[in-house]
Amino acid sequence: MTAGVIAAMLRAGNVPERQECVVMTTPRENTRQVLVGGVPLGGGAPPVVQSMLTTSTQNVSLCLEQITALETAGCQIIRLAVESSRDLEPFGSICKNSPLPVVADVHFDYRLAVGAAERGAAKLRINPGNIGSRDKVRAVIEAAGEAGIPIRIGVNSGSLEPELKERADLRPAEKMALSAERFVEYFLSQGFEDIVLSAKASDVPATIEAYRLLSRKLPQIPLHLGVTEAGTIWQGSIRSAVGIGTLLAEGIGDTLRVSLTADPLEEIRVARALLAALELGAADQPTLISCPTCSRCKVDLIGIAAEVEQRLSIVKQPLKVAVMGCVVNGPGEAEDADVGVACGKGTGAIFAKGKVLYTVQESEIIDSLFTEINHALD
Ligand code: SF4
Repeated sequence: MTAGVIAAMLRAGNVPERQECVVMTTPRENTRQVLVGGVPLGGGAPPVVQSMLTTSTQNVSLCLEQITALETAGCQIIRLAVESSRDLEPFGSICKNSPLPVVADVHFDYRLAVGAAERGAAKLRINPGNIGSRDKVRAVIEAAGEAGIPIRIGVNSGSLEPELKERADLRPAEKMALSAERFVEYFLSQGFEDIVLSAKASDVPATIEAYRLLSRKLPQIPLHLGVTEAGTIWQGSIRSAVGIGTLLAEGIGDTLRVSLTADPLEEIRVARALLAALELGAADQPTLISCPTCSRCKVDLIGIAAEVEQRLSIVKQPLKVAVMGCVVNGPGEAEDADVGVACGKGTGAIFAKGKVLYTVQESEIIDSLFTEINHALD
């Protein structure tokens, strides 16, 4: 389906239903693939993990330091705010030296988006609703077209057009979806197809509903998932897992950002765990399973599991690791684990694929586990 046909259908209110477009495939496979730097979004590519820098864009070395740390943790695309014309030159230096594709996050001033596109942005993120007139939005579209980069249209429940905000006949999710549809129609009418969409709310059910609507109404557009202002590590992880996880499990969503009031490294940890739980992603992440412990457990299993999780965070290969509290149920309950430990009284039986290899003292459990993990990774 071409951009012109889709734009005409949208204008006529003749929105293609998902069923018409799905032929033995999932929604994710139906989206049109766009490239962010070299990273593919959509078209059946595994969901891509993103985060946003917390460092000042004008501090180039600090930004590059944070990008490198995020890349090591498994981040695939990084976004940073371009707030004023003073940010443009450092933004260009960051793009030039970043190991990850860099997305420019721009609000209000279209000239910043144009400047970022000219200085090496791999993608622009704008909310056309706050960029201003159609002429200004068109200037951004033209700059992105010239640079050969995609644009994310980021609709947010808190910054809808006044006319939509006041519509009492629409639910918040419907307002966001309608806003996004209108912007997409305009972009397509300008011949610009490299679009990614997001429609975020801090309300989880509204977020889920908005993305379901978008996936049905604009099945060809890759979706950037997120629950905005999700909260602290504890609350934000749960809200994101429910919101983003529900959608990903339905096949909806091509990239995700877990928004946490925390170090962005935590966002990557949560995003990767979320993808691993759904067995999605680039198949480059380990899964840790650990028992909840009970009175049979005679070691500090909570401490052991926490350290194993920490040390696994830099492993970029698929591997299932089990940390179990007792030998009664441990290897049996975790028999599909590649490597694991089932603990006894101050000891740990190291096992692989359900078979016990040897037993060590509690103090040697973690190192022994990682010796076997390294063998499994070889
Ligand atoms: Fe309890 Fe053992 Fe099960 Fe852990 S594996 S919950 S210690 S029975």
